[in-house]
Amino acid sequence: DIHKVKHDYQSDVARLRKIVVNSLYSNRDIFLRELISNANDALEKLRIVALTEKDVWDGASPLNVTIKTILSKNSWNVSDTGIGMNAEELTVNLGTLAKSGTSDFVSKVERQEGGVNGNLIGAFGLGFYSSFLVADKVTVVSIPPKSPKNPNPTQNVFSSSADESSFEIYSDPRGNTLGHGTEITLDLKSDASDYLHTPNLIKLIHQHSSFSTSFPIYVWDEVEEVPLEDDASEVGIDTPEDEEEAVVEDANPTDSALKTKKVVVGKWEHINSQPPLWMRDPKTVSDEEYELLYQATFKDFRKPLAWSHFTGDSGSGVSFRAIVYIPSHIDEAFLTKPLESNAKDVRLLVKHVFITSDLGEYSLPKWASWVRVIIDAEDLPLNVSRETLQSSAFLKQIRGIVIRRLIQLFTKIAEEDDDKFAEIQKVYRTILKLGAAEDEKNRQKIASLVRFSTNQRNSTSLDDYIKNKKQGQKQACTASMIFYLADMGKSISHLTGSVFVEKLDARGYEVLLLNEPLDEILVQTLRTWKGFKFQDVAKAGLVFGDGEHLNTDEDREVMAALEKKYAPLLAWLKAEAGEVVRDVVLSDRLVISPCAVVADTTGLTANVQKLMSASNR
Ligand code: ADP
Ligand code: MG
Repeated sequence: DIHKVKHDYQSDVARLRKIVVNSLYSNRDIFLRELISNANDALEKLRIVALTEKDVWDGASPLNVTIKTILSKNSWNVSDTGIGMNAEELTVNLGTLAKSGTSDFVSKVERQEGGVNGNLIGAFGLGFYSSFLVADKVTVVSIPPKSPKNPNPTQNVFSSSADESSFEIYSDPRGNTLGHGTEITLDLKSDASDYLHTPNLIKLIHQHSSFSTSFPIYVWDEVEEVPLEDDASEVGIDTPEDEEEAVVEDANPTDSALKTKKVVVGKWEHINSQPPLWMRDPKTVSDEEYELLYQATFKDFRKPLAWSHFTGDSGSGVSFRAIVYIPSHIDEAFLTKPLESNAKDVRLLVKHVFITSDLGEYSLPKWASWVRVIIDAEDLPLNVSRETLQSSAFLKQIRGIVIRRLIQLFTKIAEEDDDKFAEIQKVYRTILKLGAAEDEKNRQKIASLVRFSTNQRNSTSLDDYIKNKKQGQKQACTASMIFYLADMGKSISHLTGSVFVEKLDARGYEVLLLNEPLDEILVQTLRTWKGFKFQDVAKAGLVFGDGEHLNTDEDREVMAALEKKYAPLLAWLKAEAGEVVRDVVLSDRLVISPCAVVADTTGLTANVQKLMSASNR
């Protein structure tokens, strides 16, 4: 008697299953991609664990994905020889939604009229549930590898029961049939029998999932099924390594009435034996292929904005191929969050085999930590073992090359493709400012990519500002200045209307309007641009050399008279303001506004003061 433990699904899971099944019907091929990508993850985990726990995997037994259709049972089966799951992991990983935010996501989708698209399912790591798009019943058999910690693993079965609100877990009465890994069997819905047709299946895998794994995928191509005479000897073993062998199938192991054995003749077909895309000549790779690779590799189902595919040499004699991708979005909280390791965003491979995502002390700097990159080295440098990899010069060189390529890619888009660069600015406007402030070595190049709003234009580079100025501005005293007004958090229209901009505007001068905290930090870090000095127009003592200042006797007389006239007012204002201001003076800076509060020439600007008090909190 098998001891089955019945579990209720976490309520969100039951809701989620409904959503998936109801709204993804037309998109249900995605289950292939999701299950293959889970198999890939499990195989990768096994290999990574085996780097430190040698007993887990002998390094020789095959790591692969096998897909098999069982026509007689209308069922479809995917197996991997990966890390497997124990009973608890089966319960938790397949019966609950572990990821934070998933529950909110489910509620949001429930309220949404049109339902959800397949991309969101993948992005939220809900892949396993896509099985229910094509199956009424899902059975998962899994066993972790033997290890010193776990010398006697048991093979367990997870079985979703038909009532859809619960599942069962029990130890497999057959014992260990898998070695290690996971086998998922889908009892296909009656309208999903297309997936049993091998040529069709292979075509779909190529279309949707060829990038979901770099491990070999074998598909069982069943040729025919013939009844087996009782005395016939059993032939072959059921693994892809014995290709083109006939194997014996127990057609109906549970049905005692039908004890007839049948021979299933067929062969395993290795369907992804082509070299990985990054090994190919970029000229032969289509945009769609780059996009699919990106989506499958980084589990981001939005298309990337741009990419660069190149061959390089690390400098320590290791040649490699790489693709650097710019995602089309980054987390809104990116700038305010502390730097997280870019787990999953960097994939370092050696000879096509995934080694690590962790570049250790040579992780990408904050400003570039969102970049997604695949690097495939021909070999590790001789003196680098996997254990010492994280502190090797090789990674340092790789980091430098990735950043250089990224900047080149941005620059190329800025020069050649206005529309794309506008998209880049939407996402990376602030990030580029951070890069220019943070990355001393590449500061000039990154700062060239930064765009500012001005009183005259929505967007200008510093170079364009200077070009514009040379055309319009002749006055010697101001010609070598880049004017800016900084007030963080204010809108651009507010800054345009500022009293400080008035007088410059009246003269036709362009003023950079800085309203992000990073703007002013960047300007103060740069100090000059191509010999032009940044000049804060909110600081006292701004002089225009265009003759409007007090340089005739008459002017000075007029000013003296005004000073006399307003002396009582100034004295009164000074007394009223007390400690708050250093001085109250008569000014000729303003055109329309009656008065302005300005920073002392040598003092911190209001904006920097705000920043400092914010960081001291
Ligand atoms: P995600 O893959 O994004 O985590 P899924 O719903 O696809 O979300 O899978 C949930 C979890 O179930 C995985 O994180 C993994 O722990 C486990 N899992 C799924 N398939 C397998 C498998 N073939 N082998 C081992 N573990 C698996
Ligand atoms: Mg998954």
